[in-house]
Amino acid sequence: SADVSRFLPDEEATLAAGARWAASLAAPLVVYLQGDLGAGKTTFVRGLLRAAGYGGAVKSPTYALVESYPLAGFTLHHFDLYRFASPEEWEDAGLDDLFGAGSICLIEWPQQGGGFTPPADVTVALAHEAGGRRLSVTAHTETGRKSLEAW
Ligand code: ADP
Ligand code: MG
Repeated sequence: SADVSRFLPDEEATLAAGARWAASLAAPLVVYLQGDLGAGKTTFVRGLLRAAGYGGAVKSPTYALVESYPLAGFTLHHFDLYRFASPEEWEDAGLDDLFGAGSICLIEWPQQGGGFTPPADVTVALAHEAGGRRLSVTAHTETGRKSLEAW
């Protein structure tokens, strides 16, 4: 079962959920963002980035594959693999180079990378639920569990 389960009634609640997590994030960390199109994955990252001090626009990386944000203490890489035609695109794009000690990597559609996508410390799942969304957060490693302290 999930470590955190919370009903999010509106977009503001999704932004606030991402913002709350920013307080206990530390690199390195790998996060899978699960959920259908429009579930709120990019909205969650937008809230997190604002709380982490990023003042610019947060674009969906659907076409660029990844948007990178240098922040105080770490670089946040926001991936979206939705448009992958095959998992080999992971290697073609050299995405492994973005993982490392100073990186927090949040990945939408991680399953599109097949075996190339590094394993997750935390899964953040968003699902449509009557009138809003259901947030479920699950840690898979000790690093992941530590990151959930702000919850
Ligand atoms: P994804 O990245 O999962 O495809 P987006 O974050 O781009 O989804 O879009 C989610 C859409 O749902 C946005 O229009 C946003 O305003 C809306 N939304 C986000 N969170 C909620 C919520 N808790 N309740 C209702 N609508 C939401
Ligand atoms: Mg998205």
